[in-house]
Amino acid sequence: MKVDYLRISLIDRCNFRCQYCLPQETELDQILGPELLTEAEILQLLQEVFIPLGFSRFRLTGGEPLLRPGVVDLVRAIASLPQTQDLAMTTNGFRLPALAEDLYGAGLRRLNISLDSLRPEVFAQIVGGGANRWAQVWAGIMAAYRLGFAPLKLNVVVIPGLNDQEVLDLAALTLDYPWHVRFIEFMPIGNSTLFGERGWVPSAELRRQIRDRWGLEPAQVLGNGPADVFQMPNAQGTLGFISQMSECFCQRCNRLRLSADGWLRPCLLNETGQIDLKTPLRQGQALQDLRAQVAELLVHKAQINFEQRDAGTAGGVYTRTMSQIGG
Ligand code: SAM
Ligand code: SF4
Repeated sequence: MKVDYLRISLIDRCNFRCQYCLPQETELDQILGPELLTEAEILQLLQEVFIPLGFSRFRLTGGEPLLRPGVVDLVRAIASLPQTQDLAMTTNGFRLPALAEDLYGAGLRRLNISLDSLRPEVFAQIVGGGANRWAQVWAGIMAAYRLGFAPLKLNVVVIPGLNDQEVLDLAALTLDYPWHVRFIEFMPIGNSTLFGERGWVPSAELRRQIRDRWGLEPAQVLGNGPADVFQMPNAQGTLGFISQMSECFCQRCNRLRLSADGWLRPCLLNETGQIDLKTPLRQGQALQDLRAQVAELLVHKAQINFEQRDAGTAGGVYTRTMSQIGG
């Protein structure tokens, strides 16, 4: 599998406290300003390390990437690199009403926005804060839609007893809008207590519900990554299912993850093999040495996956939360 896709976490802070990711009670050692990779360091790593190794597709994530100071300038800089074939962002959408237009102007075209519920009170229960949060995220989605962001994807983590009753309503959005609604199986990272209490719903069960109601056929969408994509008859949009719990897709994994403080991680669900790029970069180590280290990591990446995770992480104990890795 060609690994040419880098997910770049811009910041570990977040303005939401999603129960499945960063619940209220989480004490985080937040990455402080000086520890964050600077814009110049991110660009240097892209141009001198990742792009020469064949990387051409980048996603900005977090924490909440739209909290990163200077995010629009960073988008513009990455979008204008001649080797960038694809640039996307995963966001909770809360700051999109204010920033969508500038992001579009800076060259961003692809957005994944998390939307776990269509009910403001359920949404607030999941993400924390007041019921007005839903309206602001919805306004952000609409702003992005009107500006022409495409494909526009909505991410839904399905949690038993929280939002699993809304799967049909969320799927029905694709009848009215050309959006891509993606259902993600809840993973035991971030809030392993909630995972233990609630468990997760297999994608096959969601597909069964949707098929029984409307019918469902396999489909294709640009940049579907690990999602299995389907479409309901007469729908404008598609439905994606990310099923890392029920159908391991490690063998199709095409990505590396760079944390906001410069650690490069070969697998979301396996903590081995990570390398620190920031310290040697700041110590002036030759960029070709860093490139050689990343090339070496790529050689071993196929063996570092969810199935091969060590005993600690197999029990759902991770040193970094999802908000610190970027999903
Ligand atoms: N703050 C942004 C957002 O929420 O879209 C970007 C970062 S968030 C960590 C990236 C993605 O990870 C989101 O779509 C979120 O729903 C998903 N995620 C977080 N915790 C998860 C978990 N335990 N299981 C499955 N997906 C999770
Ligand atoms: Fe924040 Fe995204 Fe995690 Fe929710 S999923 S707490 S929005 S980082």
